[in-house]
Amino acid sequence: MSIPEIKLIFDEPIQRKKVPKHLADYSPSERREVAKSFGLPAFRATQVATHYFSHLSDDPQTWSDIPADVRQSIADQLTPKLIELVRSVTCDDGMTRKDLWKLHDGVLVESVLMRYSDRVTVCISSQAGCGMNCPFCATGQAGLTRNLSAGEITEQIVAAARACARGELPGGPIRLSNIVFMGMGEPLANYNAVMRTVRNITDPSPDGLGISARSVTVSTVGLVNGIEKLTEEGIAVTLAVSLHTPDDELRETLVPINSRWNIKEVLSAADAYEKRTGRRYSIEYALIRDINDQSWRADLLGRLLKNRNAHVNLIPLNPTPGSKWTASRREDEAEFVRILEGYGVPVTVRDTRGREIDGACGQLAAAEKISAD
Ligand code: SAH
Repeated sequence: MSIPEIKLIFDEPIQRKKVPKHLADYSPSERREVAKSFGLPAFRATQVATHYFSHLSDDPQTWSDIPADVRQSIADQLTPKLIELVRSVTCDDGMTRKDLWKLHDGVLVESVLMRYSDRVTVCISSQAGCGMNCPFCATGQAGLTRNLSAGEITEQIVAAARACARGELPGGPIRLSNIVFMGMGEPLANYNAVMRTVRNITDPSPDGLGISARSVTVSTVGLVNGIEKLTEEGIAVTLAVSLHTPDDELRETLVPINSRWNIKEVLSAADAYEKRTGRRYSIEYALIRDINDQSWRADLLGRLLKNRNAHVNLIPLNPTPGSKWTASRREDEAEFVRILEGYGVPVTVRDTRGREIDGACGQLAAAEKISAD
């Protein structure tokens, strides 16, 4: 299999039509400068951030600490609407909801909300499409359209927090508890926007949502330069590495970026992250029938991970259009788990939430054309 050319440059300027700037694109001190650049007092930035992040308000007419006649114009300047809901589809009696969003230039992305008994997780997109080309993932098939801005990523999270607070999911109002960068895109290939978003999530009110870093998961195909940068940030998010096989030969076909950074390099970068942050990392492993689910591979993975502070998430392969691959047999999955446990490696088999609505891992494609457009 030939290795597709992969763009590795951080934050390359591939955005064609400029995305409107939003306060979520800036640090708290920059937000004050931006307010001043609009001829506003700096404190307006803090007031608007409070309405946005703390009150989750999208109705400027309720912003009573700002004069009525300028509320709308200030809202338009600092919090322009960056994402527009096209459609929501639900399953699991409404406990799983996939939202399709249209960005200002017509580009489509998806996010998925999942309510559990004690928490709600939102899975968000960091890019429209993805340039990593993993053949079993639907998002990779159409290639990368563009990076999302921090504002566009943050808007997905704030929309999810609003939906939770307003009791849109069955079971009544609840606080959004977890954010996973496991939707469309490779988060570490859009590093600056993703890090700004992580700070918007973790900064306490009024600068951000005040959700703890440990509730945030950044999942990567294994961009070692990105993992190294993340290590330097000193912010302890959960790192997930999409490994999918313990041997380089197969990994080069499943995760083509392996030709740039191999398994040894990826795991040692993850180890350094763990050492610096004290956070156990996750190894993501989609079990593909007769491709990567043999007991010898489980054995090799067990040996690779037994002395590492890592947890394995086995994901039964979710079907994607045009792929001939399918999920492992139940007995092979059980044997894989048994072998890993024999090495003392913590392992869980991920549920297949959202599969019926093409909202599970690797199924987000946002390919639907909008007939009502
Ligand atoms: N680009 C990042 C984040 C997005 S994918 C990454 O690869 O980690 C989130 C997870 O879903 C990854 O572990 C990915 O490998 C996995 N995945 C992709 N396609 C899948 C499929 N068809 N079935 C199950 N998991 C899949």
